Amino acid sequence: IMKTRASTQPLKNADELIASVETFIFDCDGVIWKGDKLIDGVPETLDMLRSKGKRLVFVTNNSTKSRKQYGKKFETLGLNVNEEEIFASSFAAAAYLKSINFPKDKKVYVIGEDGILKELELAGFQYLGGPDDGGKKIELKPGFLMEHDKDVGAVVVGFDRYFNYYKVQYGTLCIRENPGCLFIATNRDAVTHLTDAQEWAGGGSMVGAICGSTQREPLIVGKPSTFMMDYLANKFGILKSQICMVGDRLDTDILFGQNGGCKTLLVLSGVTTLSMLQSPSNSIQPDFYSNKISDFLSLKAA
Ligand code: PLP
Ligand code: CA
Repeated sequence: IMKTRASTQPLKNADELIASVETFIFDCDGVIWKGDKLIDGVPETLDMLRSKGKRLVFVTNNSTKSRKQYGKKFETLGLNVNEEEIFASSFAAAAYLKSINFPKDKKVYVIGEDGILKELELAGFQYLGGPDDGGKKIELKPGFLMEHDKDVGAVVVGFDRYFNYYKVQYGTLCIRENPGCLFIATNRDAVTHLTDAQEWAGGGSMVGAICGSTQREPLIVGKPSTFMMDYLANKFGILKSQICMVGDRLDTDILFGQNGGCKTLLVLSGVTTLSMLQSPSNSIQPDFYSNKISDFLSLKAA
C-alpha cells in the first residue's frame, strides 16, 4: 500500500506558516515576476518577511542568465536581493562540476545560452559551444566526419533559442565516443512561458534531443532534483524542515520542496490553476495553496 500525502488545503493563517520556518525559498517566474513584470505586492511581502528575520532564497530553472544577470533583474524590478541569495540552474551546473572536482584541464561543451557560459567562466572551467555554435547547414560529402575536442569531459544542456543540428551532433559525439563524459541538464521543464500568449517548448526539449541520440539519461541539477536544495541548505547551514518552498509549478517547485523534506506552498499566480491542482490526475499535493505571495500580508489568524 502506497502512503499518500494528506491533501492540500488553502492557506488560512499565514502568520502560523511564517512562524513555523526560518527560510523561504521562492521560485521566480510565476511567483516573483511574470516575464519582465513584477507580480503584485511582492516588494512589501519580501520586506515584511525580512523584518521578521526570515532568510530569503530565490531559485529558478531558467538557465539563460547567470546569478549576476539575475541580480540586475531583481534590481531593475526594485527588489533588494543579494546575488548570493540567487540560485539559478546555470549556477547549479557550475556548482555541481565544482562539487565533484571536475578537472580544470578538461572542457565542458555547452548547449545553452549566456548564463551557463558566464557561470562556468566564473568557476574557472574551460568551455566551448554556447549560443553561437554551429548554425550553418552541414554539407555531407562521402567520407565527411565532424571533428570534436577529445578533452570534453562534460556536456551541459540548458534552454537554447539558438539550438541546431550541429550542436546535437557535437554533444552526441562527446558523449557517445567517451563513456566517461558527463551528461548534465540544467532542467527538464517541458514547456515554459516565454510570452503570456502561448506555451513554448522548454529546456526539456533540448535535453530530450540529446537523450534521443545518446540513449543516456542526464543528471539534472535544477528543480526538482535535490542538488540545489542540498547545496543551499549546506551553504547557509539550514535544516530542510525549517524551509518553506514556494512555487507555481507542481512537477518542479512543489516536488523540489517535497524531495527536500520542506514545507510547500503552491501559489496560483503562475502556470497552475486551482482545477489543475484539484484534478484527480494530479498526484502532487502541496501542504498549502494561495493566490499569490502577498496573501502573506492579509491572511491573519481570526
Ligand atoms: N526555463 C525558461 C527558458 C524560462 O523562460 C522559464 C520561465 O520563464 C523557466 C525555465 C522557469 O523558470 P522558474 O523556475 O523561475 O519558474
Ligand atoms: Ca515558476
